[in-house]
Amino acid sequence: MKSAGFCPTFHKLEGYFSSRKFITLRCRPKRSSDGKITAVIPRQHLLALTGPELVSFIGELGEPAFRARQVFAALHHRRLRSFEEMTDLPKELRAKLDSVATPSTLNIESRYLSADGTRRYLMKTHDGLPVETVFIPEERRDTICFSSQSGCPLQCSFCLTAQLGLLRSLTPGEIVEQVIVALNDAYGVGQKPQHGTNLVGMGAGEPFLAFESLMKALSIIADPNGLHIVPNRVTVSTAGIVPRIRELATVSERPHLAVSLGAPTDEQRNVLMPINRKWPLAELLGACKEFERSLKRGERFTFEYVMLRDVNDSDEHARQLANLLNRHELRVKVNLIPHNAAEPLPYHPSSRGRVESFKSILEAKGLPAFVRRPRGQDIFAACGQLAARREANPAQV
Ligand code: SF4
Repeated sequence: MKSAGFCPTFHKLEGYFSSRKFITLRCRPKRSSDGKITAVIPRQHLLALTGPELVSFIGELGEPAFRARQVFAALHHRRLRSFEEMTDLPKELRAKLDSVATPSTLNIESRYLSADGTRRYLMKTHDGLPVETVFIPEERRDTICFSSQSGCPLQCSFCLTAQLGLLRSLTPGEIVEQVIVALNDAYGVGQKPQHGTNLVGMGAGEPFLAFESLMKALSIIADPNGLHIVPNRVTVSTAGIVPRIRELATVSERPHLAVSLGAPTDEQRNVLMPINRKWPLAELLGACKEFERSLKRGERFTFEYVMLRDVNDSDEHARQLANLLNRHELRVKVNLIPHNAAEPLPYHPSSRGRVESFKSILEAKGLPAFVRRPRGQDIFAACGQLAARREANPAQV
């Protein structure tokens, strides 16, 4: 008798995962002709497949290409997260798909609603790790801030996510799924967004340490038969992974780039953003110059500078920053981000007057500077605050 879907690998790991409740990426057994299990294959997360990959996957199940197109539209255009909802597919096909694949793997654990309308979603991966996504409504355009890793290995001292350490990088499917979850919640399943949607890769994790996942996810998200959010509407922020900045400079279809500086000297940056010890400012700004040279019309490239009261926000810091960027001939826009305080981080945001003074020094030295308004601070959704916090009162899921 065949054992019904028993997966030895899963059961071996069950003890390890016992404190982690959500396991949806079931395995399927591969059997020999006499019914014995010869291997265990995890179910395929369909959101991780590009259109052509989905055609091959469905083709291997003996189904024609038009079925793959139907499934792709159901996943990415109608944003359905279960096979049962795909009622335009024959029942047998849905059952067949369910035995080898899954349309969704993220479980929404809680949803938090800020007084300013921002929403934060705390989700769990199939292996029980936290993933956070933020939806920021704006008058003309909404922004979805997605995570590229669960936790983060970089130890930026002003960031709450750093305290989680790296749990793992997210898969392309998990990145795509975050966008689907946020759009469905904001507009209703499959409903057309009322505004355009921008994406920012500024959630948990260092996107350039999940580079392959990121780039594949962005190509799936850009598909005109699906979500159709093109790279030109996406901005990705890095703490300074120099080889990936250089690599991005060679890519033609790419997101906009933001580089987080945090300090104007190596001495201070080594402390605030320890990645600087690997790639110091001269090397980072050299790569940024290379990227700037590769910019095409309409592309954006910005620096970000988190402002920490009495730490990196003096007039002298502003002059050092302006001189540094001018020395590298980088006339790039600088976004000033007042720090979002959160226990137990030891920092406080700079005062409004300090931020304005810092901004005018940059401008006087020829650098366009803007102040970013924090959003969703009250629900731990603002920049640097994503650390799977549960204190805020969750709104209804
Ligand atoms: S600021 Fe970004 S790169 Fe630095 S620790 Fe936080 S999530 Fe990681």
